[in-house]
Amino acid sequence: MRVVAIDGPSGAGKSSVSRIVGEKIGFLHVDSGALYRILTWQCLAAGVDMDDPEAIAAHTARVEIECRPENGRIAYYVNGEQPGERIRTPDINANASKVAREKPVRDYVTSLLRGMVKYGDLVVEGRDITTAVFPDSPARFYLTASAEARARRRQKEEVDKGIANQSTEAVKASLLARDAIDSTRKYAPLKKADGAIEIDSSDLTLDEVVELVMNALPEDWKYL
Ligand code: C5P
Repeated sequence: MRVVAIDGPSGAGKSSVSRIVGEKIGFLHVDSGALYRILTWQCLAAGVDMDDPEAIAAHTARVEIECRPENGRIAYYVNGEQPGERIRTPDINANASKVAREKPVRDYVTSLLRGMVKYGDLVVEGRDITTAVFPDSPARFYLTASAEARARRRQKEEVDKGIANQSTEAVKASLLARDAIDSTRKYAPLKKADGAIEIDSSDLTLDEVVELVMNALPEDWKYL
């Protein structure tokens, strides 16, 4: 079992880097944030009170997420359907951290993630992959960037994908609010793991970040 683990705050570029590195080395891309987003989406759709931890835990335990390796990644299905961009709305951005801070929710997602090794080698991105989910991986990275750079990228992405049209300032405020909850929560908070390689992508292109990650992989993982 080989796992490349990549953590970092929102908008640091984890998804693009993980997808490209996965393609280059033939490892499946796993977006762990999407699992927390799916659970958040399901809670919101059911009208669960986001300030009620017990209601969140009870509802998320009933959500069945089917994981299938597909086109170089692990795809997620809920009731036979992929959620697509509906889990990337400002409403879900604003609530995902409240769902993700609950221990039963984290246990559920962690066990789904660990179970994915049966599908093959993985590049897994998230907030606690290097510290809690796969802490023994020899390829662990902490990808970060300034709040301004992260907000600019996310804002452009939201407009390009037709998800929302918020100001960069509004996107920045939302990112920072999420980061604050993610890094101060009790269970598996976002932090740089001891021994993880830190990459600040504020002034780097995507290709440059990918190259830094590729260069730091164990030698025999680098080739398809
Ligand atoms: O990565 P993404 O922004 O899609 O993640 C959405 C939210 O899911 C994060 O803000 C965080 O609260 C939660 N998350 C987490 N642990 C992970 C991945 C995501 O707590 N490994």
